[in-house]
Amino acid sequence: MRLILLAAALAAAVPAAAETVALKCGEVFDSKSARLVGARTIVTSEGKISQVLPGRVSVPGAREVDLAGHTCMPGWIDLHVHMAMQSGPRSYEERFRLDDTDFALRAVGYSEKTLLAGFTTVRDLGGEVTLKLRDAINAGLVKGPRIYAAGKSIATTGGHADPTNGMNSELSFVVGTPGPTEGVVNGTDAARQAVRQRYKDGSDVIKITATGGVMSYAKSGDAPQFMDDEIRAIVETAKDYGYAVAAHAHGKEGMKRAIEGGVTSIEHGTYMDEEIFALMKKHGTWYVPTISAGRFVAEKAKVPGYLPEIVRVKAERIGAQIQDTFAKAYKAGVKIAFGTDMGVGPHGDNALEFGYMVESGMPAAEALQAATYRAAEVLGERDLGQLEPGFRADVVAVPGNPISDIALTSKVAFVMKDGVVYRKPSIE
Ligand SMILES: [Zn+2]
Repeated sequence: MRLILLAAALAAAVPAAAETVALKCGEVFDSKSARLVGARTIVTSEGKISQVLPGRVSVPGAREVDLAGHTCMPGWIDLHVHMAMQSGPRSYEERFRLDDTDFALRAVGYSEKTLLAGFTTVRDLGGEVTLKLRDAINAGLVKGPRIYAAGKSIATTGGHADPTNGMNSELSFVVGTPGPTEGVVNGTDAARQAVRQRYKDGSDVIKITATGGVMSYAKSGDAPQFMDDEIRAIVETAKDYGYAVAAHAHGKEGMKRAIEGGVTSIEHGTYMDEEIFALMKKHGTWYVPTISAGRFVAEKAKVPGYLPEIVRVKAERIGAQIQDTFAKAYKAGVKIAFGTDMGVGPHGDNALEFGYMVESGMPAAEALQAATYRAAEVLGERDLGQLEPGFRADVVAVPGNPISDIALTSKVAFVMKDGVVYRKPSIE
């Protein structure tokens, strides 16, 4: 009964996707050519873009949204988030005190913040709760971005994303040794089983932790954590199910094994060098930088008591490095798509990544392209990331020109997802 009431309240709060809406945009960003193309009227109906007309024109029968002085863009895509968590000084004890229900309820708030910040699509790279959050959003019960979810990340014993890291021996005994069902593999058979288990769980993408990571309760942030044959077994099995494989990696050797093993993207990529750039270009591997997370952990490493000491030393070393690596990767011509690792940093601040990318030498138009056209390529979706007839009606608008002032991406005035308006300028 309560759920029905909630659904009814949501339906009343947002106009139906079926309604024809005309967005009279002062300026439009074409994500394919990465340039502004002038004023356009974007007409949406049934959750899709039906027409894009030159100029700001009236469309008979359509509800008009006046976006004069605003730049309309395809809804932004963040390829690396964790919707079911947000790190804080108590994160390490909370995992022993809270239930999945607590994390799920928090995730409802994070979802709405993410959507209202202009991110109409996210790829969630780790968190079982997110599979259910995705379903609730799709059912219209929760306001949030469209989610492509990995479910549980796949790790090796003691690796980044082994859920039992940091437990005392008694608790470890009670919980038992995690296996492929829990996302921990050793050897090729277990690797295959773990991918098939993700399929059974309803995952949309496979995430592996090819090297150590910063936030896990473990010593190494960069040691390789999979053998070549294990990575190949994961990638081959993933292909059977049409899955892309996203590989978390900081250290060089782990990255090398992941790229040669055929993963779709390298996430973070902290210790990349010229040899890795060349390898990525050869294999067509994407780079998802997550500068936001690097900056966030480097900053928190300076706050006494915020991170456990074993994590703090890694945060200090690795965190500060990511932005420099991004600058070099861009210069080297590696394919880059947008991702923040929000959940490490606070949800809703995703757009700050645009500024960090520009600060490191990427032109603003290319940063916007990385979160639209390019990110849609990584997802393999043909109706996302562009403002063209037939594409999904995902539109975000900011006041002014974001190409001359990238900070405007943090001043989102209008958000539409699947033809439904979630945010609009106060003076319309
Ligand atoms: Zn992550």
